[in-house]
Amino acid sequence: MHSFTSWLLVLGCALHLHIVSALVPSANLSSVLSSLHLNLSPATEIFDPNETQRWTTHDAPTYVVGVRPATEVDVQNLVVFAALHRIPFLATGGAHGFTTSYGALHNGILLDLSQFRTVSVDADANTMTIGAGVRFGDVYEPLYNAGKEITTGTSSCVGMLGATLGGGVGRYNGIHGMILDALISVRLITAAGEVVTASTMENSDLFWAVRGAGFNYGIVIEATYRVTDLTSQLVANADFNFPLNASTAIMSYLKSLETEMPEKLSLIALVSYVAEYGGLTFTLNAAYPGPKEELVQLLNPLLDKIAPLRQNISVVPWKDLTYAGFFAAEPSMAACVKGLYRNVYGGSVQSYNISSFDSFFHDMQGFYSKYPDAQSSVFFIEQFSRNKTMSFSAGSTAYPYRDITAHLLWNFGYPAGSLEDTVNEFAVSARASLQASSGFSPQQIYVNYGHGDESPDVLYGAHKLPKLRSLKQLWDPENVFRFNHPLV
Ligand SMILES: Cc1cc2nc3c(=O)[nH]c(=O)nc-3n(C[C@H](O)[C@H](O)[C@H](O)COP(=O)(O)OP(=O)(O)OC[C@H]3O[C@@H](n4cnc5c(N)ncnc54)[C@H](O)[C@@H]3O)c2cc1C
Repeated sequence: MHSFTSWLLVLGCALHLHIVSALVPSANLSSVLSSLHLNLSPATEIFDPNETQRWTTHDAPTYVVGVRPATEVDVQNLVVFAALHRIPFLATGGAHGFTTSYGALHNGILLDLSQFRTVSVDADANTMTIGAGVRFGDVYEPLYNAGKEITTGTSSCVGMLGATLGGGVGRYNGIHGMILDALISVRLITAAGEVVTASTMENSDLFWAVRGAGFNYGIVIEATYRVTDLTSQLVANADFNFPLNASTAIMSYLKSLETEMPEKLSLIALVSYVAEYGGLTFTLNAAYPGPKEELVQLLNPLLDKIAPLRQNISVVPWKDLTYAGFFAAEPSMAACVKGLYRNVYGGSVQSYNISSFDSFFHDMQGFYSKYPDAQSSVFFIEQFSRNKTMSFSAGSTAYPYRDITAHLLWNFGYPAGSLEDTVNEFAVSARASLQASSGFSPQQIYVNYGHGDESPDVLYGAHKLPKLRSLKQLWDPENVFRFNHPLV
C-alpha cells in the first residue's frame, strides 16, 4: 500500500496527470488519487488493477495501479514516466500471455491498451490497420465484410499484436505464412517515449526484430497488415471425438501429412479428460477453406481406420470459423475465460515419433486418474502446412523456427497452490521426452508458447540472439520492456 501511495504521488508530480476515474479499492487510495492533479487526456482511465484479470493467474504480475490510456501521447507519457522512475510496467492487449517471467513484475503499472481497438480495412489497397489492443475476434467481421482474410490465431480473445510480435500461429499459416509475415509496418513507442515507424523501408533492423521478438522493443500502438481476398467465403469445419485407443491411428495420420500437408488443411488435436468416454479423449478439429467433400476426402485415411465416438461436419462463413471449431466449444474450453489458474508449457515437432506420443498419452491418462483436481488440463497438437511459412527467407524476420511441423501446448488447470511441484515435474518430463524424439536438436519452441523456464536460445534461436541483443541495446538500453521472455 505504501509503495502504491508513494509512487502515485510521484506520478502526479511528475506528469501532472488528470485523473478521470479513480476506481481504487480503499478510502486511502481514493483520497490520494482525488487529491492529485493529473494531466493525461480526459478519456484516460485509472483503475484498480485487480479489476482486469489476466487469462491465467499463474505467476501473474502484481500491480499497484491500472491505467487505460486514451491517446498515443498518453502512452508515450506513461512510458517516459515509468522509465524515469524505474517503475515496472506491462503493456497489456488480450492479457493471454502466460509466461512465468511475468512473475518478476512486482508493484508496477498495468498499461491496458484496450482503448486502442480500432480496425480499418482498405479493400483496394489490400491492407488492414489495427490499434494496439485489438483481439483476433475484432478483425473477423470487418475483413469478411470487405471480402478479405488474414491468418488469425485459434482463439478470438487473444491479442492480435501480442501473438504477431512473437510469430502468430493459426489455421491459415499454410496459405499465408506466420501472422508476422503479413505485417507491413508498425508505429512503435520506444523506451525513450518516441514514436517511430518500422517497416522494410524505415528502421528496417527494428522491423526485423519486431517480427519475432517485438514485445522486447516497445509498444506497437498501430500496425498495418497485408490482407488478401478470401480463399473461400465458406470454410468446412470438422470435429471428431476419439477414445484413447485411437492414439496410434491419429498420430500415424498426422505423421503421414508431415511433409505433404495440403496448404489449405489445418489440423488441431486436443487431448482432454471426458468422463463419459473413459478419461483421456481426443478431439480432432480439421478446417478447410473449400468444399466439405474435399475435406472429408482428406480425412478418409483416418476415418477408414477408426470410428469416432461423435462427429460434426459443417460449413461456416470464414468469420465464424473460430467459433465453430471443437464442437463450437470456445467458451467451454475456457479459452476466453479470465482469472483461472493455468500453468502452460510448449513444445514442437519436426517429425513425430509415434511410440513417444503413445506412451505420453498413457502417462497423461495415468495423470488424470491420479490427480482428479487436474482433470481440466488439456494438451494440443497444432499442425499446419509449413511450406508457405518456409517460403519467406529465414533471415527476413527475427522469427527463428519456420521449419516446425507441429506446435505442442500443455495447459494444466488445477487449484492454485496445490499440485504445483507434481504438475511441473510431469510437464518438464513430458516436454523433454517428446522433444528428445521430435527431430529438433537443439530444442525449438515458439516464443509465445514458452513456459518461461527455457533459455533465450531455445525461444529466439541462438543464431538470432546476437543481432536481437545489439538492437535491444540500441532501442531499449535500460531494458524497460523485459517481462515477456526477456532477451537479456
Ligand atoms: C487460450 C490461448 C490461445 C492462444 N492461441 C494462440 C494462437 O492461436 N496463435 C498464437 O500464435 N498464439 C496463441 N496464443 C499465445 C499468444 O500468442 C500469447 O499468449 C500472446 O502473448 C498473447 O497476447 P495478448 O495480447 O493476448 O496477451 P498480453 O498478456 O496482453 O500480452 C502478451 C505480451 O505481449 C505484449 N504486447 C501485447 N500487445 C502489445 C503491443 N501492442 N505492443 C507491444 N507489446 C504488446 C505484452 O506487453 C506482453 O508482454 C494463445 C494463448 C492462449 C492463452
